[in-house]
Amino acid sequence: MKEEGTPLPFLEDRDEDDDPARRSDARRHPARPGDVRYLVGLEANLDAMIPPRKSRTIRIRQLKLGGDAPIVVQSMAATRTQDIAATVRQVELIQAAGADLVRIAVDSKADVAALAEVRRRTKALLSVDLQENYRLAELVAPHVDKLRYNPGHLHHHEKEKPVAEKVAYLVGVAREHGLALRIGVNAGSVAPEYAERFPEHLDALVHSAADHCAMVDALGFADYCVSIKDSDPRLVVEANLRFAALRPDVPLHLGVTEAGMPPDGVIKTRIAFEQLLSRGIGDTLRVSLTVPFDDKGMEITVARQLLADIEAGRFRSVPPSFFDGLNIIACPSCSRVENEKFIELAQDVKELTRYAAEHKLTIAVMGCRVNGPGETDDADLGLWCGPTHVNLKKKDAELGAFRYDEILPRLKQELDALIAALG
Ligand code: SF4
Repeated sequence: MKEEGTPLPFLEDRDEDDDPARRSDARRHPARPGDVRYLVGLEANLDAMIPPRKSRTIRIRQLKLGGDAPIVVQSMAATRTQDIAATVRQVELIQAAGADLVRIAVDSKADVAALAEVRRRTKALLSVDLQENYRLAELVAPHVDKLRYNPGHLHHHEKEKPVAEKVAYLVGVAREHGLALRIGVNAGSVAPEYAERFPEHLDALVHSAADHCAMVDALGFADYCVSIKDSDPRLVVEANLRFAALRPDVPLHLGVTEAGMPPDGVIKTRIAFEQLLSRGIGDTLRVSLTVPFDDKGMEITVARQLLADIEAGRFRSVPPSFFDGLNIIACPSCSRVENEKFIELAQDVKELTRYAAEHKLTIAVMGCRVNGPGETDDADLGLWCGPTHVNLKKKDAELGAFRYDEILPRLKQELDALIAALG
């Protein structure tokens, strides 16, 4: 097990000879293991590039996940759930692209009513993201096959109730309806008590996931998996390595959240998946890309291509300067987007900021007011979208809300000021 506070594998020197797994990794990749840059231009030629996984097998209805089951590929509908026709079309489009499972976000009773109708119109296996309103679980359960809850969102409702009781409620609902569960930890919404207890962000993420597993285990429920996501693939790798060392039995859902637009979003995801899958870590995956609704099938085709490449030892190049300059993170959008101009805005931000490419700054563009405020806290400049206005932030300080046609000049003004301050 790694010790707390261990630096990222990408950034440290390691003694490879201590660890047989690393020795074999080093044979595949004749450079520093764990350093993404040593993968540049590499075509590995060993046969088992995705070694056997140690996780147990769980079930989502007839679909097996974990252990020796094929790696499950999934995506999420980006449409407004209450737009039933669009959501059904989106689910079918994602399924037709080859998804094993499709996720839908539900925030309100009106969303649940729409979900029930979506359920009637599609045979796809459906997972639901409960986000802040975990109490909708009992209403959602009859219409889905899997529930995802975020430990970092359980404190929003019934603040006095112990977390263990809330988890027991969710497990009770899952058990009654024969559903699988995902404990989905997200770097942008760490539960406050973990953020306080663990000064190191990765520790907070990993311990939050492990403690929730212990709570679910104590209830005798085994059909669950875990995800730990961040927008930085290096942190995704480290967090999942740490978690897998603690709980190798728990199936893992991999993903780089807010990876952004292709090609950067694909590169970031590839980095994480290559590093984890080649170590036998990861049982299901989602590629998150900021693309128009009609192109959402791309998340599945990219995921299948990445899997095929890794399986065949086709590790792709990572540009040496990939993490050096301007980093734009953008969420993949989902039903919570209240103004479809978000996708266009994300693309415009990328265009507008090309001139700042060499500056080591992060700009985050988020689609909604549910996760936008939290997920932009760490960015140098953050934008999160409401129905009529875009909110602009500098780190966690709010700079104001601007109309969609006003935001780009204001963003440029702030970016210019940051660049000037960098010298
Ligand atoms: Fe959906 Fe909001 Fe997350 Fe974007 S930030 S994927 S709109 S929940």
